[in-house]
Amino acid sequence: MNLDEPDYIDLDEPTGEHIVCESCGEDAVIVKRDCGIGAYEYWGARGVHVDMRNCCSECGDEV
Ligand SMILES: [Zn+2]
Repeated sequence: MNLDEPDYIDLDEPTGEHIVCESCGEDAVIVKRDCGIGAYEYWGARGVHVDMRNCCSECGDEV
């Protein structure tokens, strides 16, 4: 059993890429954020929905 591998990511993951955010105007870092619904079950079929988006580290808006 490997505890180092999470089933899904629910923390913001910094990419290290700097931007000036159009929403808040701050000098921010792009973070990868999981906008998916996570674990689901649909008619007995189980899965994990992951939808990684690039988001602003300051306001959280998609960039
Ligand atoms: Zn922002």
